[in-house]
Amino acid sequence: MALRLRVDPIACAGHGLCADLLAECVELDEWGFPVVYRDVPRGLEAEARRAVRACPTLALSLVPAAGRQRPPASGSQKARHRE
Ligand code: SF4
Repeated sequence: MALRLRVDPIACAGHGLCADLLAECVELDEWGFPVVYRDVPRGLEAEARRAVRACPTLALSLVPAAGRQRPPASGSQKARHRE
């Protein structure tokens, strides 16, 4: 089963450690808070669990992936239809 990191935005203090440990799934926004942009790739589950354990505020968890990926960029055809 595919996994996805979930960030509790209330608990997260924006240390950025998760993006350092799992850059394949997490990037930081302009304020230094994590954005999970994809499911945990096959073979990186152990690193994802390590990132969860390393979060100093316990804001990270692993959940079953819902098949959702990053939404299209704002200039894409799909995004323009929504505007
Ligand atoms: S490691 Fe934890 S507190 Fe730090 S940015 Fe990631 S989720 Fe937030």
